[in-house]
Amino acid sequence: MPPINHPFQFDVALQAAADAIRAAEGVLIGAGAGMGVDSGLPDFRGPEGFWKAYPPFRGRQFAELSTPHWFRTDPTLAWGFFGHRHNLYRSAIPHAGFGILRRWAERLPCGSFVFTTNVDGQFQKAGFPEDRIVEQHGSIHYLQCVHRCGHGLWQSDGVRVDVDDATIRARSKPPRCPGCGSIARPNILMFGDWEWDPSRYAAQALRYECWLRQVQGRRLVAVDLGAGLEIPTVRIECEARADVLIRINPREADIPASGISLAVGALEALTKIDALLGAGCEAAGCKVAGS
Ligand SMILES: [Zn+2]
Repeated sequence: MPPINHPFQFDVALQAAADAIRAAEGVLIGAGAGMGVDSGLPDFRGPEGFWKAYPPFRGRQFAELSTPHWFRTDPTLAWGFFGHRHNLYRSAIPHAGFGILRRWAERLPCGSFVFTTNVDGQFQKAGFPEDRIVEQHGSIHYLQCVHRCGHGLWQSDGVRVDVDDATIRARSKPPRCPGCGSIARPNILMFGDWEWDPSRYAAQALRYECWLRQVQGRRLVAVDLGAGLEIPTVRIECEARADVLIRINPREADIPASGISLAVGALEALTKIDALLGAGCEAAGCKVAGS
């Protein structure tokens, strides 16, 4: 079904979304790169989106840069690109939509689980519980050995990479594995990546499976935010798991027949749904939900 663009239809869809959240017992929060746009993060949408964020890489593809190959052959380039993103994600402040989702989740009997392909750690930063997040592509806030020497993962809190903005190359020495001294790399699933250490992800996925079993038979709403068609993992997961699907996406808001489509950005949609929830609560004399 195509996205709903007519203002009246949009209002109807908004109300349907608010009703679904009000009736939900649990919420699956699916998030793709579009979720971070309102926090000022690039979504690398298409080659132009990538080059706009990284002008020195004009003519090259995101998939070409995001491979473990460069950590072995050109660590200054690899750590320029990933170090820049590391610094960017660390300094980003999650937009108000994260807080709205968290507040909704906290009042539901089954709470929420976050299913995301983002590696930026923004849900943890916004206060979502670590044991209710599965990061399908790993996280930039954890490092691993490029050779998987057996040292395991470690947090990148203390890592500071100085990056030359003109060339996107690391000026400081790339971090190294504390176990064997080889170059370290983020624990992110890259393209053509056979060395990704999936241990942290596997533990997250197990907790997610447990939560899905717990919420079986309960009213589960999926809110799918900024997840594009190029890598449709989040979209497919949300469609498969939820009783009601709310898809929020300014460009790719197509939905299955029973879904609710909101063709706007994450912050705008969440704020408007929350306002409707607040209005309903005020009418009922309740001050718990809504802002
Ligand atoms: Zn090592």
